Order: sequence, then C-alpha cells, then structure tokens
Amino acid sequence: MTIERVAVIGAGTMGAGIAQVCAQAGWKTNLYDAFPEGLERGMDRIESFWEKGIARGKTTPEQRDEWATMLTPVSDLAEAVSEADLVIEAVPEIPELKHSIFAQLDELAPPHAVLGTNTSSLSIADIAAVTKRPEQVIGMHFFNPVPIMKLLELVQHDRTSQTTIATAQSAGAAMGKTTILVKDIPGFATSRLGVVLGNEAIRMLADGVASAKDIDTAMVLGYKHPMGPLALTDLVGLDVRRDILLNLQRSFNDDAYAPHPLLERLVSEGRLGKKTGKGIYDWSSGQAEETSLE
Ligand code: NAD
Repeated sequence: MTIERVAVIGAGTMGAGIAQVCAQAGWKTNLYDAFPEGLERGMDRIESFWEKGIARGKTTPEQRDEWATMLTPVSDLAEAVSEADLVIEAVPEIPELKHSIFAQLDELAPPHAVLGTNTSSLSIADIAAVTKRPEQVIGMHFFNPVPIMKLLELVQHDRTSQTTIATAQSAGAAMGKTTILVKDIPGFATSRLGVVLGNEAIRMLADGVASAKDIDTAMVLGYKHPMGPLALTDLVGLDVRRDILLNLQRSFNDDAYAPHPLLERLVSEGRLGKKTGKGIYDWSSGQAEETSLE
C-alpha cells in the first residue's frame, strides 16, 4: 500500500518525534493530542529540532520549510485520521487508554488504514482485539530520540496480515529506520534483553564484583556497547526498568526476571536515575559520578 497521509496520536516525547520523521519522509502528517498544551509542546519540540539542525548546518532553511508544510497540528481526532493511510498511536502506556483510542480509530480511520501502536510493553493482540480490523494492527516500537535512533521494532500478533507487515516495513524504510520483526511476546526483543542485562549488572554491583564504572566500562570497551548497562538504567529510569521486569516475571511466571533487591530498594528511596539526579550514579554534575549505594 502506498502511504501518502499519516496521523500520529499523542504529541509527547515519542509522538512528536514520530510525526517529525513522517513529515521528513514526505507524507502529509497530522499530529493530534487530546490536550492543547501537549500539541503545542510537541510542535515546539519538532521546530526546535529543525532549528538546531539549521544552526549545525545539517538542514537547510528550504528543507525545513518543505518539511513544515507536510506537518499539521490537529486538535480533533476525527479530522486527524479521516484520510490517513497509516495511524501511529503514541499516548501514555495505560492499557484502558490505548484500548479506547483504538476503538475510536477503528470507527474514524478509513477502512484501508493500518493502525500502529508505539507501546513498549502492552499486548498488541489485546489492543487489536478492540477493533474490527485486527489484521491491520501492528506494533511500531520506536526509540527515543526518534529522529536519531535507527531502530524500529515491528511487533506482529497472531492475526497481523503479511500486507500490514509489508506496509510497516516499507514505512520504516521511508523514515530511515532499520526494522526488525518480532512476535507479540512480553518484552518483545529490545526490552527483554535490555532489562535482563541491566538487572544482572545491578546484581554484580551488589555482589561487589566491580565498581559501577568498571562494570559499565566492561561492556563499553569489551563488547562495544555505546553505553554501559548501569548508566543506561539510570537514563531510562530505575522505576521504568523495575516495572518491565515485574511484567516479564508475571507474564512468564519466571523468577529469573525478578528485579534485584538493590533495584527495588533504590526505587523505593526515590533514586530513579538521571531524572531525579541520583540512581546508581550521582548525576548532579550532569555526568555519571560514582556514589555510595548505602
Ligand atoms: P509522553 O507522556 O511524553 O506523551 C504522551 C502524550 O499523549 C502527551 O502529549 C499527552 O498529552 C498525550 N495524551 C494523553 N492522553 C491522550 C489521549 N487520550 N489522546 C491523545 N493524546 C493523549 O509519553 P511518551 O514517552 O511519548 O510515550 C508514549 C508511548 O510511547 C507509550 O506507550 C510509551 O510506552 C511508548 N514509548 C516510550 C519511549 C520513551 O523513551 N519515552 C520509548 C518507546 C516507546
């Protein structure tokens, strides 16, 4: 299916980035948010990304103007999706909210439209089940910051059609992404491996194997990871990672995914990572500094 028009639902961190790459792909892109301030923030974020690109000589003002003409903020859901070939949802990770949005999208979007969700942990099959077109529903899991991160994890549930997969793959390529195709199993590919590595690194820290910096350096220099698993846990948020582990532990009924007690303790103390200034590292200087875990 040829894509000409796209609607992005939710203009937050992810939705704004997704709308940006859609506009840059040359598609007429409607960005919708339920809250006027959300929509304004999303549009501001995109414009400032483009301005910085011009300042750094990576984008020309003409290119920015061309992209900007492809992007429209829309405050009415029906108007946003009525002509869309592809809809990508990026509202908060609340199952009831996603289900209600998909029920509306099913009513409001054209019958041929593919409906994608950027959920990082919810079941795609459950989301698809609220629509009358489950075969046209697929997970489209982008990474933050969307315009920079190359990966797009496509998640197929049992009823996702081959045509839908092919549409999502070619859409990903047009957005400059490398796609991987993963089954609708909790944690997909990225979250499952990422949290297990982070949890094990925390266990090693608690066991006194090495300092946080040395555990991170082991993976950065020994395995060419761009960032160590402990620093990454601090960037993602200890609470976010703990919740994903709990979800995996529950879904697979396997204590291999149980959050390490040190992770639980840091979360309960409000040491959530960079966003709170302290997690495994102290971030008050803006850099990761080794700190006591007592
Ligand atoms: P966010 O809180 O930054 O943005 C959510 C946006 O949705 C807000 O602008 C909010 O106003 C809007 N919104 C709330 N209710 C709405 C509704 N009923 N209709 C339309 N818009 C509504 O959240 P985010 O970080 O962009 O996450 C969005 C989704 O992307 C979640 O499912 C999350 O799990 C997933 N995700 C996030 C990341 C990340 O690093 N932040 C990475 C991958 C996937």
